[in-house]
Amino acid sequence: MNNSLSERDQLVNWHPYTQMQTAPPPIGIVRGEGAVLFAEDGREYIDAVSSWWVNIHGHAHPHIAERVSQQLRTLEHVIFAGFTHAPAVELSERLLKLLPANQAKVFYTDNGSTAVEVALKMALQYWHNQGIPKSKIIALEGSYHGDTFGAMSISERSVFTRPFQQYLFDVEFLPVPVPGQEEAVLAKMEELLTRPDIAAFVFEPLVLGTAGMVMYEPEVLDKLMALCRQKGVIIIADEVMTGFGRTGKRFAADYLTQAPDLMCFSKGITGGTMALGVTTCTHQLYASFLSEDKTKALFHGHSYTANPIACAAALASLDLVEPEDFLQNLDRISAAHAAFALVLKNKPGIKEVRQRGTILAVELEVGATTYFHSLRDQLYQLALENGVLLRPLGNIVYVLPPYCITQAQLNQVYGVLEQMRELV
Ligand code: PLP
Repeated sequence: MNNSLSERDQLVNWHPYTQMQTAPPPIGIVRGEGAVLFAEDGREYIDAVSSWWVNIHGHAHPHIAERVSQQLRTLEHVIFAGFTHAPAVELSERLLKLLPANQAKVFYTDNGSTAVEVALKMALQYWHNQGIPKSKIIALEGSYHGDTFGAMSISERSVFTRPFQQYLFDVEFLPVPVPGQEEAVLAKMEELLTRPDIAAFVFEPLVLGTAGMVMYEPEVLDKLMALCRQKGVIIIADEVMTGFGRTGKRFAADYLTQAPDLMCFSKGITGGTMALGVTTCTHQLYASFLSEDKTKALFHGHSYTANPIACAAALASLDLVEPEDFLQNLDRISAAHAAFALVLKNKPGIKEVRQRGTILAVELEVGATTYFHSLRDQLYQLALENGVLLRPLGNIVYVLPPYCITQAQLNQVYGVLEQMRELV
């Protein structure tokens, strides 16, 4: 069979978030190394979005590869009900050391959506187990928490969720407390919290990713969390995107003085090597499931829960995340982004430039645009033609690079952003 990967793919595969009738053929990738993807036609692409925000250390990292291959030869999988294994125990121990001190227990799943589903179930069952009728959830407008039904329910209602609308549960949406809106949002939160049925507040801390890298400050999040804390409302931080260095600290929680009750992780946790989701919680939350009554257990699990290879990949990734120089390297990227943001800020065609840590977002000056606007596709193609993988969200182009990206590679990415300005 001499056909290309791309041609063979089109005969058999159905891709996510893709209108298969009109999308250009997929690009066949044969190899990855550091920040670069190598295509079957000989072209190279800088992966400036860390392949949907997961490859934090770049591709085919030798340390992770070595640790995973050792694990493959030792124990590839074992049922995680009634059994345990060293990679899961060690990963939980080491992860909890990095998280806010109130985090006490770790529950494993396979991806970001399920990490969020589990957090929702834990929060709702926390109240149910105590016989307290609280079931309403507060979420931020514009949020994205995943594609499973619970995760969709707490996410922005959009054209993506419309076919399923009648099956999504109602939540209270709170505006994002972006600069200038803080007082109004705090007042709205106080008003919502007067209701007796509020169970939990869920949010993407500091940066709403899919919403278009919408950013808000730690101080106002601390205030929102403190209000929830006063009322005993469960606080759920979805760090699926922000975790493991993305915001310039190891976790967005490291910017806060308040600590969440539940935290969700995935994406960067294995450095993009294996699918893994993690939900962590406080002892108080965990204790509400402890009972002589077996029906008070958490009835949730997946066949691949705590897969040892995925846990080994996460341990190898943690080897790279734990040292102090990890933070210094984040500072290097943050400083490069900040310097470029200054250059770009007042140029024609630019509406706003936002930056937090290794996340840089450029909002182009055009009228209202959507994911489906043709400009989005033009921007995407322009980047590819220049050897850079970027996935614009409408008129918002963001850079979330692997942390191994070099200054020369960053400059190439910034060059593409400069060119994009000219398309509007
Ligand atoms: N939560 C946040 C904040 C995300 O950005 C995403 C994915 O983009 C998810 C949850 C869902 O994760 P996954 O795609 O692994 O299901």
